[in-house]
Amino acid sequence: MAVKKILIVEDELAIREMIRTALDMAGFHCFEAGDAHEAHIQVVDYKPDLILLDWMLPGNSGLELIRRLKRESIHSNIPVIMLTARTDEDNKIQGLNTGADDYVTKPFSPRELIARINALLRRTAPDMESGRLTMGGLELDDNSHRVFISDKAIDIGPTEFKLLRFFMAHRDRAFSRNQILDHVWGGNVYIEERTVDVHIRRLRKALRQLGTDPVDYGSFIQTVRGTGYRFSELAPQT
Ligand code: CA
Repeated sequence: MAVKKILIVEDELAIREMIRTALDMAGFHCFEAGDAHEAHIQVVDYKPDLILLDWMLPGNSGLELIRRLKRESIHSNIPVIMLTARTDEDNKIQGLNTGADDYVTKPFSPRELIARINALLRRTAPDMESGRLTMGGLELDDNSHRVFISDKAIDIGPTEFKLLRFFMAHRDRAFSRNQILDHVWGGNVYIEERTVDVHIRRLRKALRQLGTDPVDYGSFIQTVRGTGYRFSELAPQT
């Protein structure tokens, strides 16, 4: 199974380190942020599989960070567990209504936290449990970094692999070139939007290279006029 990436957003260093130690030991790959602004940069750069989010942060609150992520279609599906010291039910309900998937009240045991993380990951990402994404005869294996069509490995470049992984994990949604750049290349890299088109062309070609499957998976990458691209097996609707 691919190692899950967890972003820990917590301003209290002692708590953050306690969580990190526990998650490292449990085999997660951790990133840390001390405030909402730093957290957003980490989300763009590292695409965590799950966010542990403290409610009370200096500057923007955890709740405001959730609101921002929910507005960004690329990030709106990342599961969030709120960490709250408050026993106030209203705040928990507000957190859940805003889009948090679960909450843990401080103080909590590392064991309880890890159990909640695992449960949420199982619930939100069943597709990636095995590190494999499939669509008909098309299969992407995240562990070996290979792509198969009708069980035959195809030639695919590293950038095209990442593009395909992104598309297969976010089906039936339209993304702008800029969003695709942020997600596949990372937010702090300067690359022209045209570069996306170049790699889309290569990916379409790569998905078309075998005659063993009558389906042209390259055609699933649809050009959305005025917007960007969408990956879907449904007929395009622009
Ligand atoms: Ca705090």
